[in-house]
Amino acid sequence: MSAPTAPARTRPIPEPTPETAHFWEGTRTGELRIQRCSDCASAYFPPRPFCPACSSRNVEVEAASGRATLYSYVIHHREVPGFTSPYAIAVVELEEGPRMMTNIVECEQTPEALVLDMALEVTFEQVNDEISVPLFRPAEASQSRPASTEAVR
Ligand SMILES: [Zn+2]
Repeated sequence: MSAPTAPARTRPIPEPTPETAHFWEGTRTGELRIQRCSDCASAYFPPRPFCPACSSRNVEVEAASGRATLYSYVIHHREVPGFTSPYAIAVVELEEGPRMMTNIVECEQTPEALVLDMALEVTFEQVNDEISVPLFRPAEASQSRPASTEAVR
């Protein structure tokens, strides 16, 4: 018999660990969580139980604004299960400072459209009940979409 016709939506699914559980709990509720050191005030990502700047374990979890800028990227052209090529593998710099590897969505995956330092905002793609993946889209996408551009009121 032929295989089920379900689309091959097989993006690799992250597995939360005790250190990253708070992060995935956040994305599930539409919150991008980073950590901040209570001793030296450094904000950091990815999750770890001590501050990468001063090694203090006096760290807290906080919600990031979700605003970021495009720091760097490569455009990947090969077919990868779960992705539609070409697509950008990007590093974004969060408003709070930490950098995060992600994909840019709702945007042409071309050098013309992907401009370094462009303003981005987080959006979440629900993969399953446990995991929602944080992705980024151009911030203008929502800001320049006032009600007046809607065809139907
Ligand atoms: Zn610190």
